[in-house]
Amino acid sequence: MKPAPFAYERPRDLDAALSMLAASGGSAKIIAGGQSLGPMLNLRLVQPELIIDISGLAELKRAEVSGDELVLGALVTHADIEDGRTADVTRGAMRAVAANIAYRAVRNRGTIGGSLSHADPAADWISALAALGARVTLRSLAGARSMAVEAFVVGALEPALHAGEIVEAVHVPARSATAHWGYAKSCRKTGEFAHAIGAVLVDPAAASARIVIGAIDTPPIVVTNAELFGGRIAADYKQRFDVRAADALLASAGIDDAAQRHIHVSVLRRAVLEAAA
Ligand SMILES: Cc1cc2nc3c(=O)[nH]c(=O)nc-3n(C[C@H](O)[C@H](O)[C@H](O)COP(=O)(O)OP(=O)(O)OC[C@H]3O[C@@H](n4cnc5c(N)ncnc54)[C@H](O)[C@@H]3O)c2cc1C
Repeated sequence: MKPAPFAYERPRDLDAALSMLAASGGSAKIIAGGQSLGPMLNLRLVQPELIIDISGLAELKRAEVSGDELVLGALVTHADIEDGRTADVTRGAMRAVAANIAYRAVRNRGTIGGSLSHADPAADWISALAALGARVTLRSLAGARSMAVEAFVVGALEPALHAGEIVEAVHVPARSATAHWGYAKSCRKTGEFAHAIGAVLVDPAAASARIVIGAIDTPPIVVTNAELFGGRIAADYKQRFDVRAADALLASAGIDDAAQRHIHVSVLRRAVLEAAA
């Protein structure tokens, strides 16, 4: 199938893009890498009157360390991160996640902002960035606002974007020297979307953790207390990981199928073991 007809604009800068988006009154779609929007256009799942191609906007390609965080423009590609063309404040965590997204051809064009905006619960950046404590900046003609990545995903394919807003940047806090990282996913085939993701940032020295269960039909589950570790986060967190508490959490999130819960808990356990290794 081919897309329904649409008009196409390639704005010269971010202000021009925002003006076009505002003027469209909701009938336009942004295209960045086109890796998710392309198939959706071809299948006619979306039929915008106008496509606004932001892929040439230099303002959205910047990547810089500012204070104790990395600020990545929305157009930074998965391959930019995989290849180390962006600074790394996560001690390799983001690079490893990027390298395992889809296939190289997808990673060359797919962008971090596009991945978040598409809001597929199975997307790697949603879970990984939520665990890393990242925030997104959204911009419209009215100004900018910022929110945690996990709050940006309202539901499956449902980002918290208002009309006229785009994702401008992702802010990733530096991973502390004592924080451990683990990331695991279960896919039917290498390069396919995951049907379970576990992302784990545990800092035993600070007795803190950010644990994410992703690739569920809702926004990711983010746990920032010690409930999955018997009430205490310490050096022995690997032994303290409580599979029954994780299972109960998934059940209370509405995952009724015990086999599905088992897969999610097993993948999360793998992430915890990786962090502790
Ligand atoms: C075969 C295949 C396998 C894949 N496997 C994986 C995988 O294993 N893991 C994974 O995480 N991803 C996977 N993906 C998705 C891929 O990572 C895409 O890069 C990503 O989903 C979309 O990024 P994009 O830049 O191509 O966005 P586009 O396709 O251009 O846009 C996607 C959506 O986001 C909107 N959008 C884009 N940029 C912005 C912005 N800055 N502000 C507001 N809205 C915006 C668009 O309007 C559209 O609705 C796969 C894709 C393919 C084709």
